Amino acid sequence: MSDYKLNTKCVQGGYTPKNGEPRQIPVVQSTTFKYDTSEDMGKLFDLEASGYFYTRLQNPTNDYVAAKIAELEGGTAAMLTSSGQAANFFALFNICETGSHIVSSASIYGGTFNLIAVTMKKMGIDVTFVNPDCAEEELNAAFQDNTRAVFGETIANPALTVLDIEKFAKAAHSHGVPLIIDNTFPTPVNCRPIEWGADIVTHSTTKYMDGHGVAVGGAIVDSGKFDWFAHKDKFPGLTTPDDSYHGITYAEKFGREGAFITKCTAQLMRDFGCIQSPQNAFYLNLGLESLHVRMPRHCENGLAVASFLKGHEKVKRVSYPHLEGDKYYELAKKYMPSGGCGVVSFEIEGGRAAAEKFMKSLRLMAIETHVADARSCCLNPATSTHRQLTDEQLEAAGIPAGLIRISCGIEDKEDLINDIKQALEQV
Ligand SMILES: *Cc1c(COP(=O)(O)O)cnc(C)c1O
Repeated sequence: MSDYKLNTKCVQGGYTPKNGEPRQIPVVQSTTFKYDTSEDMGKLFDLEASGYFYTRLQNPTNDYVAAKIAELEGGTAAMLTSSGQAANFFALFNICETGSHIVSSASIYGGTFNLIAVTMKKMGIDVTFVNPDCAEEELNAAFQDNTRAVFGETIANPALTVLDIEKFAKAAHSHGVPLIIDNTFPTPVNCRPIEWGADIVTHSTTKYMDGHGVAVGGAIVDSGKFDWFAHKDKFPGLTTPDDSYHGITYAEKFGREGAFITKCTAQLMRDFGCIQSPQNAFYLNLGLESLHVRMPRHCENGLAVASFLKGHEKVKRVSYPHLEGDKYYELAKKYMPSGGCGVVSFEIEGGRAAAEKFMKSLRLMAIETHVADARSCCLNPATSTHRQLTDEQLEAAGIPAGLIRISCGIEDKEDLINDIKQALEQV
């Protein structure tokens, strides 16, 4: 599939049936797999042969879908996880351990921020958060001897900051560690971080990849480019024998192309078990088949809604990276020339009360803790995800009480604008 264009990979990547086999990816709804001899099975346990034995580790449906995502991102190997949270945890924990340190953009998804700042800290893994817009010197100053990974989001949820991927990749590589990029919002249709120097790419497939609000899931893709042996002492998990697999050294046995994902599957999936169900992988694939058709519409609607809001008297400010004049416009054009995503945020005049009245008045857009769905939805952090904060605390966190996040679906843009227009009139 590697010679085909991205549009073709969305539809047919990852799975090529042989003569007489199912045209669509089959759902292998089986926890376990049958073998004739224990010798056959033993080889699988020793990672001497590849094959399936238990769905917690690997399942054919998941592997077909993961292979499609690897092709889309231009990676060499990929795996699915039960959620985006699991994907980011696994990607980091696969190379970090007690005593390690992470450099992360401060502008990331709240769930990931909490994972790194609170939960991984309890595991003895430290973090330095940096302003993604900081100068190179400041970024370089965040590194320590025990830094093992750099993390950021292409377009951050919900702040809509655009990461300068090349700047972060350069800093990571000059300190001998990989750059992990959460590429959930643009998807590989609009940005392929590996082409800009990222080593590992993660996804919450719950968002645009599924795109229909049916299945929570995640994915991890390895670029196959990071040379683990060149920084042997930093990554003993990949470059020294694994006692739990009879002394296999992942980077030696599976090379740059396969080491990261094989270790992540063999150790982390085995021990934590955050597998995606094959049925959900099947739904995810249905979403992927139309991803290249849906993303341009999400972007068209996002830009139309952002442009409408920008000129409105009841709107204080609008954030949409692809809107001319936005703080991130130049970076957005560089890394995502065809568009970013359908998420727009704006601050309404009149704060919390105005936001509540506006959202109550919407007819097409529903209030949801979700984004990146075919159906448009919206959320006011002050009255939902951040309702424990006072107006002053919200202001300090850069989430004023009147901030509303709209996720533009793939409906007609005129209907979306008319819905927003009539709701603003009622405020
Ligand atoms: C939603 C989201 C996550 C978490 O994914 P889940 O599938 O909800 O676990 C991680 N990163 C980003 C950018 C997200 O938008």
